[in-house]
Amino acid sequence: MNGIPSTARVQHALATATVDLGIIESNVRFLKSLPDAERELMAIVKADAFGHGMIPISHAMLRAGADWLGVAHLSEAIELREAGITAPIFAWLATLDTDYRPGIEANVDLSISSRLDAVRIAEAASSVGMTAKVHLKIDTGLHRAGSPVELWPQLLAEISSADWAKSLHVAGIWSHLSDPGEADGKANGIQYQAFAAAVAVAASFGIKPEYLHLSSSASVGRFGKASPGTAQLNLSRAGAGLYGIDDRGVGVKPAMTLESRIMQFRRVPAGSAVSYGGDWVSDRATNLALVPLGYADGIPRCIKGASVFCRGQRLPIVGRIAMDQFVVDAGDLQLEVGDQVILFGTGELGEPTALEWAQWAGTIEHEIYTGLGPRVARRYLNDKN
Ligand SMILES: *Cc1c(COP(=O)(O)O)cnc(C)c1O
Repeated sequence: MNGIPSTARVQHALATATVDLGIIESNVRFLKSLPDAERELMAIVKADAFGHGMIPISHAMLRAGADWLGVAHLSEAIELREAGITAPIFAWLATLDTDYRPGIEANVDLSISSRLDAVRIAEAASSVGMTAKVHLKIDTGLHRAGSPVELWPQLLAEISSADWAKSLHVAGIWSHLSDPGEADGKANGIQYQAFAAAVAVAASFGIKPEYLHLSSSASVGRFGKASPGTAQLNLSRAGAGLYGIDDRGVGVKPAMTLESRIMQFRRVPAGSAVSYGGDWVSDRATNLALVPLGYADGIPRCIKGASVFCRGQRLPIVGRIAMDQFVVDAGDLQLEVGDQVILFGTGELGEPTALEWAQWAGTIEHEIYTGLGPRVARRYLNDKN
């Protein structure tokens, strides 16, 4: 139907997100092959691989040449290990409740932004009789996590000489950019300079780790082989671009198609108010189609001007999005219960893209993808695992 490869066959699912792992793989290869790309690529699979499904996506990314996997939470890293993934994994977020021990035992690289992080990780490592691999984070301007520049020498002094720090192995120094896709690269350059300075300070304490990482998708290769001096970046952390979110306009492709089926179809007279509050009223007799997806499934309630793709046409969503369903105005088009409705895809058939949904909702594609709820079944094309 409509040329989409094998539509939802998942029984009982109200909607299906079909992810083409072949596209994911080519996005990985594409970012890795950008001019001056860092030697190694960490594929970021946090938040269930941006809603695409962490385990199948991780296998595909590694198959395509990703060297590392990156996640925010340690629990995500452990899930990857439990799925049998042995590649290097970096997990960078923790709270005071985080028990680092299972992460250290699972050979997960951890992040340190402060003395408190360092002490807690070192204690966890010595309590299991192991060395923890850590990446020291310097704040170069994002002002999120990371050591403030003024505390950096003190942190390095302790890590390089304190007895309690002997169970730490510094494997990396890293930071994160505020605006990796910026056109002129000016703010990026300032952050890179701050990073290079922090790397030089670390070297003065004898800390010369194997990995230096700063770039995310939109800046892969921007500081590559051209970068002078001490801070030769050799690892990038790419998320968005691998899912086809093209912040930099390089030509990566979306891999997910979200589709559902019409569950009810009816003709209504002019003057029919649709959905809660009745704030959309038909100005003519028209055909309405009901789609079983709502804001609980990640369809933003705030969308304005959104449409879906059905039988080769874009049809507007009318009335408020409910928790579980929404209504489409089909005009005089005759549809049938069970017809495929594509919410978004690659755009190649004329269907909307996740980028358009993001614009209709006043947000970014990341939020559209990660918002998809558990009632949406995930299916994979080109799964070679
Ligand atoms: C999410 C995230 C990334 C990936 O950034 P993209 O813009 O999605 O490529 C990299 N590093 C950190 C710390 C992140 O939180």
